[in-house]
Amino acid sequence: MKLQQRDEKHLWHPYTQHQTASKPLGIVKGKDALLWDEDGKEYIDAISSWWVNPFGHSNELLAQAAYKQLTQLEHVLFGGFTHEPAVLLAEKLISILPSNQQKIFFSDNGSTAVEVAIKMAIQYFFNKGEKKHVIVAFENAFHGDTFGAMAASGISFFTESFKGQLLEVVRIPIPEKGKEQLSEEKLKEAITKHKVAAFIFEPLVQGAAGMKIYAEKALDNLIKIAKSHNVITIADEVMTGFGRTGKTFACDYLSEQPDIICLSKALTGGTIPLAVTSATQEIFDAFCDEDVNKALFHGHTYMANPTGCAIALEAIRILQTDETQQNIKRIEQHHKEFVQKLNDNPNVENARTLGVILAFEVKTSGNTSYYGSIRNRLYDFFIEKGIILRPVGNTIYILPPYIVTNAQLQRIYSVIEEAIKEIAS
Ligand SMILES: *Cc1c(COP(=O)(O)O)cnc(C)c1O
Repeated sequence: MKLQQRDEKHLWHPYTQHQTASKPLGIVKGKDALLWDEDGKEYIDAISSWWVNPFGHSNELLAQAAYKQLTQLEHVLFGGFTHEPAVLLAEKLISILPSNQQKIFFSDNGSTAVEVAIKMAIQYFFNKGEKKHVIVAFENAFHGDTFGAMAASGISFFTESFKGQLLEVVRIPIPEKGKEQLSEEKLKEAITKHKVAAFIFEPLVQGAAGMKIYAEKALDNLIKIAKSHNVITIADEVMTGFGRTGKTFACDYLSEQPDIICLSKALTGGTIPLAVTSATQEIFDAFCDEDVNKALFHGHTYMANPTGCAIALEAIRILQTDETQQNIKRIEQHHKEFVQKLNDNPNVENARTLGVILAFEVKTSGNTSYYGSIRNRLYDFFIEKGIILRPVGNTIYILPPYIVTNAQLQRIYSVIEEAIKEIAS
């Protein structure tokens, strides 16, 4: 029996309506930007396997780093113990993160990185004797699926079943062109009306919302407002981190520095789960006291897993090589040219690009909801053509691994052009 059939018996997939969904593809091999299914069909992974993989599948260097660490010290508890990979990775991260970041808290996935950030923010005020518990977040934000992260997320059908049981969150519009002022007013209003502990945002690009891009200047202004009202700012760089926007972090475009930063996805080059919540010294200091109760009582069994840390160190080293930086620039250049071409296409709206991210909307009269019929037609079309893309409603986006070749990029572009023709007509 094929994997596809055997899967059906015992597996439960993410974001999947199993009654109507088509069977998952059984993938047996990956190399660089390519994946192969169990029938031998080849696919270009144009979304880096949900944004995790910048350096290619089955990367030898990352595999060597993993093997070396696994045969030296695979894991040790992080409560009361430490180890070199964690120390080295923390030192490395602090050297590349915005200069106000001083402390690294490890966990295992993006949602948890956000969960920890929110707990840090609320307890920060609690420890100082202030009760502030409300979070401000953007409309259509995505911060993950655990309870705190889910509360901060604004994609309503993801969270509908849990309404009334979530953290209190006030939502403001993203400062898209023309909406900068509205966004600022709504933030100020939220802060005056509620006891706001934190303002959380995906800096410059809202990923799951369909790669919505907004300007750094507008975000700088929002951060300034939050800071002037003693509200902690949390940058969720889980998707944008490690080169996606053309700089190491999206925050590198800003003049302001967020208080807390969440990282995951590309941190280990798409190999094994690891996440980071980084914070300023000031936030950390609010947890230091003679009173044990002021400590951050949060932890995970696999926290700072040495193998994950060792791979992350190698991944950051690869990110910083001239070769990778050239690759990012190369993709940026190709994307810019393709955006120009898309702008001339009457069936395309709002073509945009930042770093290696490219997105646009297909004009259509069909059902454009998140998992609507247009989305499914597009998805199936791409899979049929051997391109892995996951449109969001009528938004098509590309987020390729940095090692994608020019020929592969051109192939992705041309299949997208075919899809537009197919769907729009
Ligand atoms: C994917 C994502 C998360 C959640 O990360 P998981 O590892 O899937 O839990 C959180 N925030 C952003 C911005 C993301 O893109």
